Amino acid sequence: MAMDMTYFNDMEAKIPRGKVRTRFAPSPTGYMHVGNLRTALYTWLIARSSGGAFILRIEDTDQGRLVEGAVDVIYRTLAECGLTHDEGPDVGGPVGPYIQSQRRDTYGRYAHLLVEKGCAYYCFCEKTESEEDSGGFHRAADPCRSLSPEEARARMEAGEPYVIRQRIPETGTTTFHDAIFGDITVENATLDDQVLLKRDGLPTYNFANVIDDHLMGITHVVRGSEYLSSAPKYDLLYQSFGWDVPTYVHCSPVMRDQHNKMSKRHGDPSYEDLKAQGYLTEAILNYVALLGWSPRGELAEREMFTLPELAEAFDIAGISKSPAIFDIDKLTHFNALYLRAMSPEDFHAAAEPYIRQSVKNPGLDTRSIAALLQARCEKLTEIPEKVDFFEVLPAYGTDLFTNKKSKTNEEVSRRMLESVIPALEETAEWSPEAIHGCLTGLAEKLEVKNATLMWPVRIAAAGRAVTPGGAVEICCILGRDECLRRLRVGLEMLEA
Ligand code: GLU
Repeated sequence: MAMDMTYFNDMEAKIPRGKVRTRFAPSPTGYMHVGNLRTALYTWLIARSSGGAFILRIEDTDQGRLVEGAVDVIYRTLAECGLTHDEGPDVGGPVGPYIQSQRRDTYGRYAHLLVEKGCAYYCFCEKTESEEDSGGFHRAADPCRSLSPEEARARMEAGEPYVIRQRIPETGTTTFHDAIFGDITVENATLDDQVLLKRDGLPTYNFANVIDDHLMGITHVVRGSEYLSSAPKYDLLYQSFGWDVPTYVHCSPVMRDQHNKMSKRHGDPSYEDLKAQGYLTEAILNYVALLGWSPRGELAEREMFTLPELAEAFDIAGISKSPAIFDIDKLTHFNALYLRAMSPEDFHAAAEPYIRQSVKNPGLDTRSIAALLQARCEKLTEIPEKVDFFEVLPAYGTDLFTNKKSKTNEEVSRRMLESVIPALEETAEWSPEAIHGCLTGLAEKLEVKNATLMWPVRIAAAGRAVTPGGAVEICCILGRDECLRRLRVGLEMLEA
Protein backbone atom coordinates (compact mmCIF):
# COMPACT_ATOMS: atom_id res chain seq x y z
CA MET A 1 0.00 0.00 0.00
CA ALA A 2 1.49 3.35 -1.04
CA MET A 3 2.19 5.76 1.78
CA ASP A 4 -0.18 8.69 2.26
CA MET A 5 1.87 11.77 1.29
CA THR A 6 -0.57 14.45 2.45
CA TYR A 7 1.41 15.34 5.56
CA PHE A 8 4.65 15.70 3.60
CA ASN A 9 3.04 17.73 0.85
CA ASP A 10 1.54 20.08 3.43
CA MET A 11 4.92 20.53 5.05
CA GLU A 12 6.53 21.31 1.68
CA ALA A 13 3.86 23.90 0.96
CA LYS A 14 4.69 25.80 4.15
CA ILE A 15 8.39 26.28 3.37
CA PRO A 16 9.23 29.95 2.78
CA ARG A 17 11.19 30.38 -0.43
CA GLY A 18 12.81 33.11 -2.47
CA LYS A 19 15.08 34.83 0.04
CA VAL A 20 18.08 34.07 2.17
CA ARG A 21 17.19 32.29 5.40
CA THR A 22 19.82 31.40 7.99
CA ARG A 23 19.53 29.82 11.38
CA PHE A 24 21.47 29.74 14.59
CA ALA A 25 20.85 26.34 16.15
CA PRO A 26 22.45 26.16 19.58
CA SER A 27 22.12 23.29 21.98
CA PRO A 28 21.13 24.67 25.36
CA THR A 29 24.33 24.02 27.27
CA GLY A 30 23.98 26.99 29.60
CA TYR A 31 27.04 28.60 28.18
CA MET A 32 27.66 30.65 25.03
CA HIS A 33 31.27 30.04 24.14
CA VAL A 34 33.19 32.38 21.88
CA GLY A 35 32.95 30.00 18.90
CA ASN A 36 29.16 29.80 19.34
CA LEU A 37 28.87 33.55 19.52
CA ARG A 38 30.91 33.85 16.34
CA THR A 39 28.65 31.32 14.58
CA ALA A 40 25.60 33.30 15.70
CA LEU A 41 27.19 36.52 14.49
CA TYR A 42 28.22 35.21 11.06
CA THR A 43 24.83 33.57 10.62
CA TRP A 44 23.08 36.81 11.51
CA LEU A 45 25.39 38.82 9.24
CA ILE A 46 24.72 36.58 6.24
CA ALA A 47 20.99 37.08 6.74
CA ARG A 48 21.18 40.81 7.37
CA SER A 49 23.65 41.59 4.59
CA SER A 50 21.27 40.08 2.07
CA GLY A 51 17.94 41.24 3.43
CA GLY A 52 17.14 37.72 4.56
CA ALA A 53 15.65 36.19 7.70
CA PHE A 54 17.53 34.99 10.78
CA ILE A 55 15.98 32.10 12.65
CA LEU A 56 16.68 30.77 16.12
CA ARG A 57 16.21 27.04 16.62
CA ILE A 58 16.86 25.28 19.90
CA GLU A 59 18.47 21.87 19.47
CA ASP A 60 17.55 20.01 22.61
CA THR A 61 17.25 16.44 21.38
CA ASP A 62 20.05 15.35 23.66
CA GLN A 63 17.80 15.25 26.67
CA GLY A 64 20.56 13.91 28.87
CA ARG A 65 22.50 17.14 28.51
CA LEU A 66 19.76 19.64 29.29
CA VAL A 67 20.73 22.46 31.62
CA GLU A 68 18.28 24.49 33.62
CA GLY A 69 17.98 28.12 32.43
CA ALA A 70 20.20 27.40 29.43
CA VAL A 71 17.76 28.71 26.86
CA ASP A 72 17.61 32.01 28.72
CA VAL A 73 21.37 32.40 28.32
CA ILE A 74 20.85 32.11 24.56
CA TYR A 75 18.02 34.66 24.45
CA ARG A 76 19.88 37.05 26.72
CA THR A 77 23.13 36.87 24.76
CA LEU A 78 21.47 37.35 21.39
CA ALA A 79 19.42 40.28 22.70
CA GLU A 80 22.41 41.97 24.37
CA CYS A 81 24.46 41.57 21.21
CA GLY A 82 21.69 42.95 19.00
CA LEU A 83 21.51 39.71 17.01
CA THR A 84 17.76 39.90 16.67
CA HIS A 85 15.92 36.91 15.27
CA ASP A 86 12.90 37.04 12.97
CA GLU A 87 11.60 33.61 13.89
CA GLY A 88 12.17 31.46 16.94
CA PRO A 89 10.53 29.79 19.92
CA ASP A 90 9.70 33.10 21.60
CA VAL A 91 8.58 35.07 18.53
CA GLY A 92 7.00 32.25 16.52
CA GLY A 93 7.02 32.10 12.72
CA PRO A 94 5.61 30.17 9.77
CA VAL A 95 7.59 26.95 10.21
CA GLY A 96 7.49 26.35 13.95
CA PRO A 97 7.77 24.88 16.44
CA TYR A 98 11.38 26.07 16.72
CA ILE A 99 12.37 23.75 19.55
CA GLN A 100 13.43 20.31 18.38
CA SER A 101 11.90 18.40 21.29
CA GLN A 102 8.52 19.74 20.13
CA ARG A 103 9.04 18.42 16.60
CA ARG A 104 9.31 14.78 17.53
CA ASP A 105 6.34 13.67 15.49
CA THR A 106 7.79 15.27 12.36
CA TYR A 107 11.13 13.49 12.64
CA GLY A 108 9.39 10.16 13.20
CA ARG A 109 7.31 10.59 10.08
CA TYR A 110 10.29 11.53 7.92
CA ALA A 111 12.37 8.65 9.28
CA HIS A 112 9.63 6.21 8.37
CA LEU A 113 9.30 7.83 4.95
CA LEU A 114 12.99 7.20 4.41
CA VAL A 115 12.56 3.54 5.33
CA GLU A 116 9.75 3.40 2.82
CA LYS A 117 12.09 4.83 0.18
CA GLY A 118 14.65 2.11 0.97
CA CYS A 119 17.19 4.66 2.25
CA ALA A 120 16.93 3.71 5.92
CA TYR A 121 16.15 0.57 7.91
CA TYR A 122 14.86 -0.55 11.26
CA CYS A 123 17.52 -1.94 13.51
CA PHE A 124 16.75 -4.06 16.54
CA CYS A 125 20.27 -4.77 17.72
CA GLU A 126 21.16 -3.90 21.29
CA LYS A 127 23.56 -1.00 21.15
CA THR A 128 24.84 1.23 23.88
CA GLU A 129 23.56 4.75 23.79
CA SER A 130 26.93 6.14 22.80
CA GLU A 131 27.13 3.70 19.91
CA GLU A 132 23.70 4.88 18.86
CA ASP A 133 24.61 8.52 19.15
CA SER A 134 27.82 8.19 17.24
CA GLY A 135 26.80 5.39 14.95
CA GLY A 136 30.27 4.07 15.72
CA PHE A 137 30.06 0.40 14.81
CA HIS A 138 30.59 -1.60 11.68
CA ARG A 139 27.57 -1.76 9.46
CA ALA A 140 28.53 -4.88 7.57
CA ALA A 141 28.12 -6.69 10.87
CA ASP A 142 24.57 -5.41 11.31
CA PRO A 143 22.10 -8.18 10.42
CA CYS A 144 19.17 -5.73 10.42
CA ARG A 145 20.42 -4.04 7.26
CA SER A 146 19.20 -7.00 5.27
CA LEU A 147 15.95 -7.75 7.09
CA SER A 148 12.98 -7.89 4.76
CA PRO A 149 10.28 -5.22 5.34
CA GLU A 150 7.89 -7.94 6.47
CA GLU A 151 10.30 -9.32 9.05
CA ALA A 152 11.04 -5.87 10.35
CA ARG A 153 7.35 -4.98 10.61
CA ALA A 154 6.59 -8.20 12.43
CA ARG A 155 9.27 -7.50 15.04
CA MET A 156 8.09 -3.92 15.49
CA GLU A 157 4.53 -5.06 15.92
CA ALA A 158 5.68 -7.54 18.50
CA GLY A 159 6.90 -4.55 20.50
CA GLU A 160 10.65 -4.96 19.99
CA PRO A 161 12.48 -1.68 20.51
CA TYR A 162 14.25 -0.34 17.43
CA VAL A 163 16.23 2.51 16.02
CA ILE A 164 16.13 3.77 12.44
CA ARG A 165 19.44 3.82 10.65
CA GLN A 166 20.52 5.50 7.43
CA ARG A 167 21.29 3.02 4.65
CA ILE A 168 24.55 4.36 3.21
CA PRO A 169 25.49 2.96 -0.21
CA GLU A 170 28.25 0.40 0.17
CA THR A 171 30.20 1.59 -2.85
CA GLY A 172 30.83 4.81 -4.72
CA THR A 173 31.68 8.26 -3.47
CA THR A 174 29.80 11.30 -2.23
CA THR A 175 30.90 14.83 -3.04
CA PHE A 176 29.59 17.85 -1.23
CA HIS A 177 30.39 21.51 -1.59
CA ASP A 178 31.27 23.89 1.19
CA ALA A 179 31.52 27.64 0.65
CA ILE A 180 34.77 27.82 2.61
CA PHE A 181 36.38 24.44 1.95
CA GLY A 182 35.25 23.84 -1.64
CA ASP A 183 34.41 20.37 -2.96
CA ILE A 184 35.07 17.43 -0.68
CA THR A 185 34.74 13.83 -1.86
CA VAL A 186 34.59 10.79 0.38
CA GLU A 187 34.28 7.05 -0.20
CA ASN A 188 30.85 5.88 0.91
CA ALA A 189 32.48 2.81 2.43
CA THR A 190 34.02 5.08 5.08
CA LEU A 191 30.63 6.41 6.23
CA ASP A 192 28.65 4.67 8.94
CA ASP A 193 24.97 3.78 8.85
CA GLN A 194 24.24 6.47 11.38
CA VAL A 195 21.22 6.32 13.65
CA LEU A 196 18.53 8.76 12.56
CA LEU A 197 15.86 7.99 15.11
CA LYS A 198 16.73 6.72 18.56
CA ARG A 199 14.97 4.08 20.61
CA ASP A 200 13.13 6.79 22.53
CA GLY A 201 11.73 8.13 19.26
CA LEU A 202 13.87 11.25 19.37
CA PRO A 203 16.07 12.04 16.38
CA THR A 204 19.84 12.32 16.47
CA TYR A 205 21.31 15.72 15.73
CA ASN A 206 22.49 14.35 12.41
CA PHE A 207 18.95 13.62 11.28
CA ALA A 208 17.09 16.49 12.91
CA ASN A 209 19.32 19.19 11.42
CA VAL A 210 18.63 18.00 7.88
CA ILE A 211 14.87 17.74 8.39
CA ASP A 212 14.69 21.11 10.11
CA ASP A 213 16.97 22.96 7.74
CA HIS A 214 14.86 21.74 4.84
CA LEU A 215 11.45 22.33 6.41
CA MET A 216 12.50 25.75 7.67
CA GLY A 217 13.69 26.79 4.21
CA ILE A 218 17.27 27.40 5.36
CA THR A 219 19.46 28.52 2.47
CA HIS A 220 22.81 28.83 4.31
CA VAL A 221 23.89 26.44 7.03
CA VAL A 222 26.62 28.06 9.12
CA ARG A 223 28.29 25.87 11.74
CA GLY A 224 31.57 24.69 13.18
CA SER A 225 33.92 22.66 10.99
CA GLU A 226 33.57 19.72 13.42
CA TYR A 227 30.46 18.91 11.37
CA LEU A 228 32.35 18.72 8.06
CA SER A 229 32.96 15.00 8.35
CA SER A 230 29.21 14.38 8.71
CA ALA A 231 28.28 16.55 5.75
CA PRO A 232 28.45 13.72 3.16
CA LYS A 233 25.85 11.82 5.18
CA TYR A 234 23.66 14.92 5.25
CA ASP A 235 24.03 15.22 1.50
CA LEU A 236 22.96 11.60 1.06
CA LEU A 237 19.90 12.32 3.19
CA TYR A 238 18.98 15.36 1.07
CA GLN A 239 19.43 13.22 -2.03
CA SER A 240 17.27 10.43 -0.64
CA PHE A 241 14.44 12.87 -0.03
CA GLY A 242 15.04 14.62 -3.35
CA TRP A 243 15.67 17.96 -1.64
CA ASP A 244 18.03 20.80 -2.57
CA VAL A 245 21.17 20.94 -0.47
CA PRO A 246 21.65 24.30 1.30
CA THR A 247 24.89 26.27 1.03
CA TYR A 248 27.23 24.92 3.71
CA VAL A 249 29.46 27.41 5.51
CA HIS A 250 31.68 25.43 7.87
CA CYS A 251 33.82 27.70 10.07
CA SER A 252 37.16 26.64 11.50
CA PRO A 253 37.37 26.57 15.27
CA VAL A 254 38.37 29.33 17.61
CA MET A 255 41.48 28.12 19.42
CA ARG A 256 42.98 28.94 22.80
CA ASP A 257 46.47 28.28 21.39
CA GLN A 258 48.08 26.55 18.41
CA HIS A 259 46.80 23.12 19.38
CA ASN A 260 43.70 23.39 21.53
CA LYS A 261 40.21 24.59 20.90
CA MET A 262 38.74 27.04 23.37
CA SER A 263 36.75 25.12 25.89
CA LYS A 264 34.78 25.61 29.03
CA ARG A 265 36.63 22.70 30.57
CA HIS A 266 39.92 24.56 30.25
CA GLY A 267 38.43 27.63 31.83
CA ASP A 268 38.19 29.64 28.62
CA PRO A 269 35.76 32.51 28.93
CA SER A 270 32.21 32.46 27.60
CA TYR A 271 30.45 35.60 26.42
CA GLU A 272 29.03 36.11 29.90
CA ASP A 273 32.46 35.61 31.50
CA LEU A 274 33.93 38.26 29.21
CA LYS A 275 31.15 40.65 30.17
CA ALA A 276 31.83 39.96 33.83
CA GLN A 277 35.53 40.62 33.20
CA GLY A 278 34.64 44.15 32.11
CA TYR A 279 34.50 43.85 28.33
CA LEU A 280 31.89 45.77 26.37
CA THR A 281 29.48 43.84 24.17
CA GLU A 282 30.40 46.02 21.17
CA ALA A 283 34.10 45.32 21.60
CA ILE A 284 33.52 41.58 22.04
CA LEU A 285 31.39 41.43 18.88
CA ASN A 286 33.88 43.45 16.87
CA TYR A 287 36.76 41.27 17.98
CA VAL A 288 34.85 38.02 17.50
CA ALA A 289 33.84 39.09 13.98
CA LEU A 290 37.52 39.31 13.07
CA LEU A 291 38.32 35.86 14.48
CA GLY A 292 38.19 34.04 11.19
CA TRP A 293 36.82 36.74 8.91
CA SER A 294 38.59 39.70 7.38
CA PRO A 295 37.21 42.62 5.45
CA ARG A 296 38.39 42.96 1.89
CA GLY A 297 38.91 45.68 -0.69
CA GLU A 298 38.82 49.24 0.62
CA LEU A 299 38.03 48.05 4.12
CA ALA A 300 40.93 45.58 4.27
CA GLU A 301 42.94 47.56 6.80
CA ARG A 302 40.03 48.52 8.98
CA GLU A 303 39.60 47.04 12.46
CA MET A 304 36.75 48.84 14.10
CA PHE A 305 33.26 47.91 12.96
CA THR A 306 29.91 48.48 14.59
CA LEU A 307 27.30 45.78 14.03
CA PRO A 308 25.53 47.70 11.22
CA GLU A 309 28.92 48.35 9.60
CA LEU A 310 29.68 44.64 9.80
CA ALA A 311 26.36 43.83 8.16
CA GLU A 312 27.40 46.13 5.35
CA ALA A 313 30.95 44.79 4.98
CA PHE A 314 30.45 41.08 5.64
CA ASP A 315 30.79 38.50 2.90
CA ILE A 316 31.25 34.74 3.07
CA ALA A 317 34.35 34.95 0.86
CA GLY A 318 36.15 36.79 3.68
CA ILE A 319 35.84 33.81 6.05
CA SER A 320 39.13 32.03 6.56
CA LYS A 321 39.86 28.31 6.37
CA SER A 322 42.45 28.42 9.10
CA PRO A 323 41.60 28.29 12.77
CA ALA A 324 41.74 31.58 14.63
CA ILE A 325 43.50 32.05 17.94
CA PHE A 326 41.63 33.94 20.61
CA ASP A 327 43.95 36.59 21.99
CA ILE A 328 42.67 38.25 25.13
CA ASP A 329 45.20 41.10 24.82
CA LYS A 330 43.84 41.94 21.41
CA LEU A 331 40.33 41.98 22.82
CA THR A 332 41.54 44.24 25.62
CA HIS A 333 42.98 46.59 23.02
CA PHE A 334 39.64 46.71 21.21
CA ASN A 335 37.89 47.30 24.49
CA ALA A 336 40.07 50.31 25.31
CA LEU A 337 39.37 51.77 21.86
CA TYR A 338 35.64 51.33 22.43
CA LEU A 339 35.78 52.87 25.90
CA ARG A 340 37.63 55.89 24.50
CA ALA A 341 35.23 56.31 21.62
CA MET A 342 32.19 56.52 23.91
CA SER A 343 30.53 59.88 24.66
CA PRO A 344 31.34 61.09 28.19
CA GLU A 345 27.70 60.43 29.15
CA ASP A 346 27.76 56.85 27.89
CA PHE A 347 31.10 56.21 29.50
CA HIS A 348 29.83 57.56 32.79
CA ALA A 349 26.75 55.34 32.59
CA ALA A 350 28.93 52.28 31.97
CA ALA A 351 31.55 53.20 34.58
CA GLU A 352 29.31 54.39 37.41
CA PRO A 353 28.43 50.97 38.86
CA TYR A 354 32.13 50.08 38.92
CA ILE A 355 33.10 53.41 40.51
CA ARG A 356 30.41 52.90 43.13
CA GLN A 357 31.85 49.51 44.04
CA SER A 358 34.64 51.32 45.84
CA VAL A 359 33.53 54.93 46.07
CA LYS A 360 30.46 54.89 48.31
CA ASN A 361 30.53 58.46 49.60
CA PRO A 362 27.64 60.24 47.82
CA GLY A 363 29.53 63.54 48.09
CA LEU A 364 32.09 62.30 45.56
CA ASP A 365 31.01 63.09 42.03
CA THR A 366 31.11 60.02 39.78
CA ARG A 367 31.01 62.16 36.61
CA SER A 368 34.27 63.87 37.47
CA ILE A 369 35.84 60.54 38.41
CA ALA A 370 34.61 58.96 35.16
CA ALA A 371 36.16 61.82 33.20
CA LEU A 372 39.55 60.93 34.70
CA LEU A 373 39.14 57.26 33.80
CA GLN A 374 37.91 57.31 30.24
CA ALA A 375 41.29 57.63 28.55
CA ARG A 376 43.06 55.55 31.17
CA CYS A 377 41.22 52.29 31.40
CA GLU A 378 41.12 49.20 29.24
CA LYS A 379 38.42 47.30 31.11
CA LEU A 380 35.61 48.49 33.34
CA THR A 381 36.60 46.00 36.02
CA GLU A 382 39.88 47.87 36.56
CA ILE A 383 37.92 50.82 37.84
CA PRO A 384 37.14 49.98 41.49
CA GLU A 385 40.76 49.59 42.49
CA LYS A 386 41.92 52.55 40.41
CA VAL A 387 39.65 54.94 42.29
CA ASP A 388 39.29 53.46 45.77
CA PHE A 389 41.65 56.12 47.19
CA PHE A 390 38.88 58.70 46.77
CA GLU A 391 36.86 56.88 49.40
CA VAL A 392 39.60 56.25 51.94
CA LEU A 393 43.12 57.60 52.06
CA PRO A 394 45.32 54.50 51.78
CA ALA A 395 48.20 53.92 54.18
CA TYR A 396 51.41 54.90 52.41
CA GLY A 397 55.06 55.52 53.16
CA THR A 398 56.83 58.88 52.89
CA ASP A 399 59.15 57.39 50.27
CA LEU A 400 56.42 58.15 47.72
CA PHE A 401 57.24 61.84 48.12
CA THR A 402 60.61 61.31 46.48
CA ASN A 403 60.61 61.58 42.71
CA LYS A 404 63.65 62.39 40.69
CA LYS A 405 61.94 63.69 37.59
CA SER A 406 59.81 66.11 39.58
CA LYS A 407 62.84 67.09 41.63
CA THR A 408 61.21 66.29 44.93
CA ASN A 409 62.28 64.43 48.01
CA GLU A 410 60.81 64.31 51.49
CA GLU A 411 62.39 67.61 52.53
CA VAL A 412 61.25 69.47 49.40
CA SER A 413 57.79 67.92 49.73
CA ARG A 414 57.51 69.10 53.33
CA ARG A 415 58.30 72.68 52.30
CA MET A 416 55.83 72.52 49.40
CA LEU A 417 52.98 71.24 51.57
CA GLU A 418 53.69 73.86 54.22
CA SER A 419 53.03 76.55 51.62
CA VAL A 420 50.26 74.77 49.73
CA ILE A 421 47.97 74.20 52.73
CA PRO A 422 47.47 77.88 53.72
CA ALA A 423 47.25 78.91 50.05
CA LEU A 424 44.49 76.39 49.33
CA GLU A 425 42.72 77.33 52.56
CA GLU A 426 42.41 80.81 51.19
CA THR A 427 41.25 80.14 47.62
CA ALA A 428 37.77 81.57 47.31
CA GLU A 429 36.52 79.00 44.86
CA TRP A 430 37.02 75.20 44.74
CA SER A 431 37.19 74.48 41.01
CA PRO A 432 39.88 72.94 38.80
CA GLU A 433 40.72 76.39 37.42
CA ALA A 434 40.97 78.00 40.85
CA ILE A 435 43.07 75.15 42.29
CA HIS A 436 45.29 75.13 39.24
CA GLY A 437 45.74 78.92 39.43
CA CYS A 438 46.55 78.74 43.12
CA LEU A 439 49.13 75.95 42.76
CA THR A 440 50.92 77.28 39.68
CA GLY A 441 50.94 80.81 41.14
CA LEU A 442 52.53 79.41 44.28
CA ALA A 443 55.14 77.44 42.30
CA GLU A 444 56.10 80.64 40.52
CA LYS A 445 56.38 82.51 43.82
CA LEU A 446 58.52 79.73 45.31
CA GLU A 447 60.59 79.58 42.11
CA VAL A 448 60.12 75.83 41.63
CA LYS A 449 58.87 73.80 38.66
CA ASN A 450 55.14 73.11 38.69
CA ALA A 451 55.93 69.39 38.96
CA THR A 452 57.97 69.90 42.10
CA LEU A 453 54.91 71.31 43.80
CA MET A 454 52.23 69.13 42.16
CA TRP A 455 53.98 65.85 43.01
CA PRO A 456 53.70 66.10 46.81
CA VAL A 457 50.17 67.49 46.55
CA ARG A 458 49.04 64.53 44.46
CA ILE A 459 50.80 61.99 46.71
CA ALA A 460 49.31 63.47 49.87
CA ALA A 461 45.84 63.79 48.31
CA ALA A 462 45.77 60.25 46.93
CA GLY A 463 48.25 58.25 49.01
CA ARG A 464 49.22 56.47 45.76
CA ALA A 465 52.08 56.75 43.32
CA VAL A 466 49.91 56.00 40.30
CA THR A 467 46.53 57.68 39.98
CA PRO A 468 44.08 58.47 37.23
CA GLY A 469 44.24 62.26 37.00
CA GLY A 470 46.68 64.75 38.40
CA ALA A 471 46.88 66.77 41.63
CA VAL A 472 44.39 69.42 40.54
CA GLU A 473 41.62 67.03 39.49
CA ILE A 474 42.06 64.82 42.54
CA CYS A 475 41.99 67.76 44.98
CA CYS A 476 38.92 69.14 43.28
CA ILE A 477 36.99 65.86 43.42
CA LEU A 478 37.89 65.30 47.11
CA GLY A 479 36.40 68.67 48.09
CA ARG A 480 38.18 71.33 50.07
CA ASP A 481 37.84 69.84 53.57
CA GLU A 482 38.90 66.32 52.74
CA CYS A 483 41.67 67.52 50.46
CA LEU A 484 43.14 69.81 53.14
CA ARG A 485 42.78 67.09 55.76
CA ARG A 486 44.82 64.73 53.61
CA LEU A 487 47.47 67.36 52.84
CA ARG A 488 47.85 67.93 56.60
CA VAL A 489 48.18 64.19 57.18
CA GLY A 490 50.96 64.14 54.58
CA LEU A 491 52.71 67.09 56.14
CA GLU A 492 52.54 65.52 59.59
CA MET A 493 54.07 62.32 58.22
CA LEU A 494 56.91 64.36 56.71
CA GLU A 495 57.44 66.29 59.94
CA ALA A 496 57.56 63.20 62.08
N1 GLU B 1 23.24 22.20 17.91
C1 GLU B 1 24.50 22.22 17.25
C2 GLU B 1 25.55 22.81 18.15
O1 GLU B 1 25.21 23.52 19.09
C3 GLU B 1 24.36 23.10 16.03
C4 GLU B 1 25.09 22.69 14.86
C5 GLU B 1 24.51 23.36 13.63
O2 GLU B 1 24.47 24.61 13.62
O3 GLU B 1 24.06 22.70 12.73
O4 GLU B 1 26.71 22.56 17.96
